[in-house]
Amino acid sequence: MDCYCVEPGKRIKLNDWDPQDKEFCPDGKDEGVRRLESLKQKLYDLQVRFFAENKRKLLVVLQGMDTAGKDGTIRNVFGGLDPQGIRVATFGKPSTRELKHDYLWRIHRQTPAKGQIGIFNRSHYEDVLAVRVRHLMPKSVWSKRFGHINDFERMLTDEGTTIIKIFLHISFEEQRERLLSRKNTPRKQWKLIPQDVEDRKLWPNYTEAYEDTLSQTSTRHAPWWVVPADRKWYRNLLVASLVCDALQKLDPQYPTPAYDISAIEI
Ligand code: ADP
Repeated sequence: MDCYCVEPGKRIKLNDWDPQDKEFCPDGKDEGVRRLESLKQKLYDLQVRFFAENKRKLLVVLQGMDTAGKDGTIRNVFGGLDPQGIRVATFGKPSTRELKHDYLWRIHRQTPAKGQIGIFNRSHYEDVLAVRVRHLMPKSVWSKRFGHINDFERMLTDEGTTIIKIFLHISFEEQRERLLSRKNTPRKQWKLIPQDVEDRKLWPNYTEAYEDTLSQTSTRHAPWWVVPADRKWYRNLLVASLVCDALQKLDPQYPTPAYDISAIEI
């Protein structure tokens, strides 16, 4: 899967990454779905151990253009895990209260505690993406944030958090299909807001902002992964694999009982 990792220090162009790529599962959807099912079982076993171990933290950051599939990924990949060990945080437009603080204030409060897997549905990266593209702050303000973010993530990793940052990469055409489907399917209409159509007009600006962001904030301690996301089954498979790999590397262990178990009479 290394081909999906943004090499730290390297400048990337999203055009070079194919949103329809399926190299990790060339046999297609049936095989992909089968592999996802077995990965989810593995993920569950690892999560139970991670939670019981209660020592380290895992943070999964999900970013992507509108309709890229952040909600679907959360449902399909993490839906079967023990909710006690999961913390999903969704970051929409900052509230008046949040705007009174620095932009990382609301983020830090939602980072996972020991034993938890935190999932960010959007994140601090909106503060160098939406904020930049919609001109909510001048360049002199948002351009300094790449450095803050790298330092902030460095602190989190130094303090025991593993960070997986995932950019769900969809094509302009696929976004059109998904927006149309939202418009024409009654049960999906609630998800369509005028802002989505406004942001679609800014696709080239968002692309440029993402390219800068991924290039400047993919670090050894917290690298970015560009996940081809035009095919939902492939996106789910890849995200599940990334999380599974990270947990396997951490190799969480059940704690040894603090008591002499054989001495406990039941
Ligand atoms: P989603 O599109 O993720 O399903 P919403 O429709 O509620 O959810 O959209 C959330 C909106 O909040 C997005 O347009 C996103 O760009 C915006 N947003 C998130 N964080 C910020 C931020 N820090 N500053 C400005 N806008 C933000």
